[in-house]
Amino acid sequence: MRKTLVILLIILLTLPLLAQKKVSDLKFHNLQNYSWLRLAKIVPEVTDRVILPTGTLESHGAVAVGSDNIVPLNLAERIWKKCNALIAPPINYGYTGISVSEFPGSIVVREEIFEEYIYDVLKGLVKTGFNNILIIDGHGGNKEPTKRAMTRLHLETQANFMMVDWWKIGWDITKEVYGQPAQQSGHGDLEEAALNISLNPDFADREMYEKYGKDKVGRVGAEEGFTLLPAWATTRYPAKGLGYLDFDVKKAEEYTTKKAERIADTFLEAIQRWEMMESWKK
Ligand SMILES: [Zn+2]
Repeated sequence: MRKTLVILLIILLTLPLLAQKKVSDLKFHNLQNYSWLRLAKIVPEVTDRVILPTGTLESHGAVAVGSDNIVPLNLAERIWKKCNALIAPPINYGYTGISVSEFPGSIVVREEIFEEYIYDVLKGLVKTGFNNILIIDGHGGNKEPTKRAMTRLHLETQANFMMVDWWKIGWDITKEVYGQPAQQSGHGDLEEAALNISLNPDFADREMYEKYGKDKVGRVGAEEGFTLLPAWATTRYPAKGLGYLDFDVKKAEEYTTKKAERIADTFLEAIQRWEMMESWKK
């Protein structure tokens, strides 16, 4: 009886050591907080997954000029645990649209510079041991240079990449939460504001929005058939009467949670499929 108890005790004590460690068992989930000595033990043993938020500084009507940085980081902070991923320090300066860059707080990194820059950042992540890289992009202008950089790296290293445009993934969530038709988000509008104010209600400036008026701060649709420099508004609504800011924090929280879930599930499915196909090669 006593012998059985001792064996049982040994099993119970060694069980946690045998269990696979997760990022949530670690001290930090932000890559930059570790020493390299510790990081070398974490990647790839605990995880080979990393999230890189990318954005820029750009005028967004009554919403924060840092929206494109705030949104991807807000989403990354909500999914790292589910994805068992570390978060890399974000890239906060990107290829800002020239048409909105003349307003205060907008900073432009030229497209070709951005491509080389993000290529080097991603290369460093792959070299660190990350094999599954999720880029949450907060800014449309970054998309093409990022796609080119990740394509080059994938071909060179075979590392797996997924880039998310939050304004396109999960269109249906707007209908679910706000009862508006599912369509691509505008710019500095309802959806972008929601992903900001779920972090801090003051990231959408209600006073300014009401002072200048929603139809003056914003305008419907993209420029089609002509080009304007500068743009005629720094908020773009997706359609007539739609996309106006809603300052309801509860709805914003629901919208952000659902958007984050969708991104996490898509990334996890991608990893599962990458692993499945990899196993077929053996
Ligand atoms: Zn934006």
